[in-house]
Amino acid sequence: MTETVYLVGSGPGDPDLLTVKARRLLDEADVVLHDKLPGPDIIDLIDPERREDVGKRAGGERTPQSAINERLVELAHEGKSVVRLKGGDPFVFGRGGEEAAYLADHGVPFEVVPGVTSAIAGPAVAGIPATHREYASTVSVVTGHEDPTKEKSAVDWDALAATGGTIVVLMGVGKLPDYTAALREAGKDPETPVALVERATWPDQRVATGTLDTIVDVRDEAGIEPPAVTVVGEVAGERERVVEFLEGY
Ligand code: SAH
Repeated sequence: MTETVYLVGSGPGDPDLLTVKARRLLDEADVVLHDKLPGPDIIDLIDPERREDVGKRAGGERTPQSAINERLVELAHEGKSVVRLKGGDPFVFGRGGEEAAYLADHGVPFEVVPGVTSAIAGPAVAGIPATHREYASTVSVVTGHEDPTKEKSAVDWDALAATGGTIVVLMGVGKLPDYTAALREAGKDPETPVALVERATWPDQRVATGTLDTIVDVRDEAGIEPPAVTVVGEVAGERERVVEFLEGY
């Protein structure tokens, strides 16, 4: 009989931020397919015989998405209970939607188990509220992986600048110089606060702050690397106000 596949969000990395359901499924599953994004503390919870790393391989090559899709279907048809564990929430930039569609196309029942997304939790644990009654009535979550200079960027940085709200960029460490420039060109104040939250909720979380003008230098000096979320907007300035009393990570 074909088993149900669970597309499970791990949250940002602290095992205490797994949902109760995610934790139970991790304990019960025959096989857990994961990449590196859930972080070492969560991956260590799964016993090594029951987990398959489908992330980047040693040589730096990524398991193709098609191979992951096929493996999910294969295991389900073998009658194995499968968890596909994804960092944060499975349907926020994790290709979870593609996996769900593939499962449906192949007649495999699946369930989505939402997770705490790094887009909101990353800023939060750094003392940065995603919205603010006085100066951030919207929050946009966008990918930074795009090249903003390419003819037709899938992210409209002009429109984002015009909202005046918070902009959270995922996968945005490498292209930070491009989209901060795009936002300045779109008329966003160069003094707008920007924060980088690296490995949010992991034991070695780091936070670096600056402005649209300075954040690239800040990134370089601190050596910030993925995974990190970028927060652009007045809310990023809130950290300074609360950091002295901010506990947790
Ligand atoms: N589904 C995930 C996002 C996947 S895209 C979620 O909901 O969080 C991968 C990007 O997520 C990374 O490049 C980084 O920008 C962000 N990310 C995921 N986990 C993170 C963490 N613990 N700290 C900072 N950024 C994280």
